[in-house]
Amino acid sequence: MNEILEAVKEITAAAVKKADKACRVTRLKLSKAALDRLLNAQYIELGKTVYDMCKSGVEDSQEIVSMTVQIDGTRRRLKALEKRIAHISELVTCPGCGTVLKIKNTYCPHCGKMLAEEEEVITENENEMIMSQE
Ligand SMILES: [Zn+2]
Repeated sequence: MNEILEAVKEITAAAVKKADKACRVTRLKLSKAALDRLLNAQYIELGKTVYDMCKSGVEDSQEIVSMTVQIDGTRRRLKALEKRIAHISELVTCPGCGTVLKIKNTYCPHCGKMLAEEEEVITENENEMIMSQE
């Protein structure tokens, strides 16, 4: 009886962990969508600025450079987020030897340990940090 209870507990814990991970991926994807929108807005702003400069005949290369730097920053943040999402959704770290493996492996090919879901990969703070970097 106790064994069955233990097994149920373990399954429930695994399900909660999975849901947790799905939540985290969803949150990251929302952040990514927001960054995508920001990037598009920055591209449009840059285009509009260049257009206005052409029209008025007044060129301010400093402004263009600073906008480009902003865009690069957004692109870097997007890259970091994409990496996080890929990492969380596709990879697990072997608890035995630390090898990073695709999630489809059940056992580690290096040390033979059974693979569990990856624990905390990204914290809320980390996510906010990525989102608020300027
Ligand atoms: Zn291993």
